[in-house]
Order: sequence, then C-alpha cells, then structure tokens
Amino acid sequence: MKMGHVIGIDLGTTNSCIAYFEGGKPQVIPNLDGQRTTPSVVSVTDSGEKLVGSFAQRQTTTNPGNTVTSIKRLIGKKFDSKEAQEAKKKMPYNLTDAPNGDVMVSLNSKAISPQEVSGMILEYLKECAESHLGEEVSDAVVTVPANFNDHQRKATKDAARIAGLNVARVINEPTAACLAYGIDERKNAIVAVYDLGGGTFDITLMEVSDGVFHVLATNGNSYLGGEDFDDRIVDWIIEEFKKENKIDLSKDVFVRQRIKEAAESAKKNLSFSQENKIHLPFIFSDKSGAKHIKLNLSREKLEELTSDLIEKTFPFIEQTLEDSKLNPKDIEEVILVGGQTRMPKVKEMIKDFFGKDPVEDINPEEIVALGAAVQSGIIKGETDESTLLLDVTPLSLGVEAENDAFARIIARNTTIPTRRTRAFTTVRHNQKRVRVHVLQGESENASENISLGVFNLVGIHSAPAGLPQIDVTFEIDADGIVKVTAKDVDSERLKKIEVKPSSGLSNEEIEKIIAKAQKKEAEKEEKVKEE
Ligand code: AMP
Repeated sequence: MKMGHVIGIDLGTTNSCIAYFEGGKPQVIPNLDGQRTTPSVVSVTDSGEKLVGSFAQRQTTTNPGNTVTSIKRLIGKKFDSKEAQEAKKKMPYNLTDAPNGDVMVSLNSKAISPQEVSGMILEYLKECAESHLGEEVSDAVVTVPANFNDHQRKATKDAARIAGLNVARVINEPTAACLAYGIDERKNAIVAVYDLGGGTFDITLMEVSDGVFHVLATNGNSYLGGEDFDDRIVDWIIEEFKKENKIDLSKDVFVRQRIKEAAESAKKNLSFSQENKIHLPFIFSDKSGAKHIKLNLSREKLEELTSDLIEKTFPFIEQTLEDSKLNPKDIEEVILVGGQTRMPKVKEMIKDFFGKDPVEDINPEEIVALGAAVQSGIIKGETDESTLLLDVTPLSLGVEAENDAFARIIARNTTIPTRRTRAFTTVRHNQKRVRVHVLQGESENASENISLGVFNLVGIHSAPAGLPQIDVTFEIDADGIVKVTAKDVDSERLKKIEVKPSSGLSNEEIEKIIAKAQKKEAEKEEKVKEE
C-alpha cells in the first residue's frame, strides 16, 4: 500500500507550524484559518468546548484561568521542578501534581497532563493537514528542542499518540532547520544553528558535506526564550505603574495577561522601530477613578532590560565549540532560527561573536517545520539517496554509583543511535536483585541529574557475591529516546527488568485518554445526528 504523506510538525512553545514534502521540496501547510503558523494555545470554555490556536488565543485575556499557553515549557517536568514553580507564579492557569509528581494543568477544574494539552494542539494540526491534503494523515515527524531530555521526548511522543499520530521520527529543531537550509544547494560548510524560540534555546554545530548532515555538538537551555523577554517588559511596566500610582498590579492574573500581550507586541514592533507606545486604558480603577497605562518603550530600554538573557546563551555556544574542538572563526555559516532571533540585538551579538553576518532569507518561524518535512522525505526515500542525517544525544546517560557519584555510560554529543553494555554484579551472597538507577545530565553528582527511572534486575541465580554477571545494555535510539535491557551472562537468558520510570504516562493511562476522547467524539456525532 502506498504510504500517505508523513507530515512534518514543529510543535513550538508559542507557535506551531506544519509542512509536507512534495516534488522534492518541503512546503508549509496553512491551518484552517489560512495562517502559516498556529498559536500553541488551548482553551476550554465554560460550556466545556475545546478551542485550539487563534480561537484559543482570543481567550487569553477573557478566560485566562482556562487558557493554556506555553505548555511546552512544562511537558516532561515535575511539579516541584524550578521551571514548574516559576510557571506557577507567572501563569494565569493553575498547576497541580500527578501521583508520580509530574506537573498537571487545571482546566475547568480538571487536572490534565501536558501531554493531553499538546495532544489537542497536534490533533488540530493533523486536522489542518488532512483538510489541506485531502487525505487522512496518520504519520508525522515531530521536532523537539535539541536539549530535550528523555522525559520531554517521550512525553512529546505520547502527546502525538493521544492525537492519533504515529511518530515516524523525532528530530531536533536546529538539526531540522539545517536540513531545510542545506538540502537545496548541496552546501558544504560548518554551520552553527542558533535557535531562540518562544521558550527554549538551542545551539547546534553541524558539518554539512555532500548531503551528509553531521551534528558535531549541541547544547542549550529548555527554559530560556522569548517568553522571558516578555516577562522582563511586564515587570518593568508593573514597576513603572507602581512608581506612579503606588498600586501593585502583579497579583491580578487578568491584568497581568493584558500587560503581557501588550509587552509581547511592543517587543515585536521594536524589532522594526526605535520607539513603541504601550497604552492600556482602564487597567485599574478605585474610588479615585480609572487608571491607565501609558508608557513609551524604546529599543534601547528593551535592550537594557533583556541583554543579559541573550548573554546567557553564550556559555552554551562556547561549550559546543569546546566539545567539537572548533573556534568561532571555523564556523562558516550561521543560521538563526526561532522568532526571538528577529530582535536586532540578538543578530548583532551573534554577528560579533562569530565575526560574520548570519544567513539572510530564512524564515525563522517556518524553517524547522520545513526541515521536519525534509526528514519525512528522507524516510519515504523521496530525497537524493546520499542524504544522511547523523544526530547526537544532547545529554550524558549514566547510572548512580556509590556516594551519589554519576557514572557516565554514554557521553553527550555521541552520535545516535548508539548502545553501550556494562556488566553489573551482586554485592551480597545470594542476592536476588540488583537496582540500577538510570540518570541523564552532566553533573558529577547523581542527585543533581535527571532521574529516568529505576531498573530492578530480578531473578538472579543464587551465587556468592560478585560472581553473577548481568550485562545491562543502554541504548539511545534515533529519536534520542533511552531503552535499557539486561542479560544474565551465565544463563544467556534475558533477565526480567522491573522498570519504575520516574515520569510520564503509562501505556494504560494513554489508552484510557484515547478511549475517553473517542467516546466523547462518538457522543458528539450521535448528538449531531439527533439534531
Ligand atoms: P517561535 O517559537 O519560533 O514561534 O518564536 C516565538 C517567539 O518569538 C515569541 O516569544 C515571540 O514573541 C518572538 N518573536 C516573534 N516575532 C518577533 C519579532 N519580530 N521580534 C522579536 N521577537 C519576536
């Protein structure tokens, strides 16, 4: 049977974009409104109606408590993580925790997982693609920030499953951007992809040579992006208002949301002009009357408020250069990806760092989806045969050793897919099980890295301490996802492993969510028929 289109999806923090590969070229698929990107926003109205995209975005000021923006910043995170706690302070919607400690969002007083929220966005994008292509779409290449860890990648894949999409491949956003950029003209160059989107920052160094896209090193921060620039402006506006009126607006979620919208809009305008007026009438009213915000924000002031955020990206760039033994002058081309790179100060600081102008003529909001579509072309054998993508794992993988030490098994920037085997043994006579705590991160202290799960190797045969040999194989697949298997060397049998993942939805939970959604859909159809 002919495989239908495999669509490419850039599931962004602020906006998402979809594309497909046809006639040897990737092309953007517009959404149902005819827009080339879709706000990654989900809202549930009082009557329980789900809204996605620009319809949901209109609810951010009128129904902020039930409108979820920036869910990508929370996917795969724990409720007590620094990131979730920061979001809890700033976001107008409520956050709670799941029994396993994962963060959940509250919509119409119901706690739902970030996977389900992202699933709603993906479901809408799938519908847009089906409408545009006139066929059912069941497969997709989905992009993630290069620095996403195993939890975040798995959770993104689960979101796609909830949306009824089979993930043909997960690829890293900067890698996708480079694929889209380099596929056309068979470029040969060492390329730096600087990706500053709405919520995440990645830097990836790649060598492109005769159709081979070889990632040399990657690094980044999955909690640094345009949103942080907006927050700086919001805090400034609130401070200015306080100075003038002795009134603190920071606690009112409706007000904060209105200010945030104005802040983002001012920030965007200031990429093209030097001055921007921020005018928010009737922002507050008390006995003395209505109060308004009327401020002037200059580009210079914006830069003063946010330059340190841009500076925060440089240590990551330096680390990738060190990891790949390159100097800034070795970089032949610089590609800017993500809407936040439209800010002139970002361009200027990057130009100063690398000593060259970034490549022009790239749409930073579309290039990642286009690259995902190129990857789908590779999967379907529709690109030049020599096209090959060699990506890397962004984070080291290892296990907890004695005294909280982290024993690295696969180092960061190792080309994937990859596998390493390590022998484990018992420390007590007749020990029946061995506990392997798998972690991801760069700290030498196990407790400071991300816990992926605990694997118990059970059913070990009775033997003196140190005699049994259990080979544990750690694998990272092409999606950057970790798998662990074990083998008892003596018996050559595959040992049973009890896995306790420290995050994520179980298979049963995902199936329950899908079944519930299908039931709701059937009820809706039934109702339509009755009417
Ligand atoms: P993306 O995830 O690539 O869609 O990037 C979204 C981020 O880019 C948001 O934080 C936007 O506010 C920001 N952005 C979009 N356009 C501009 C612009 N013209 N100047 C500065 N930032 C922008």
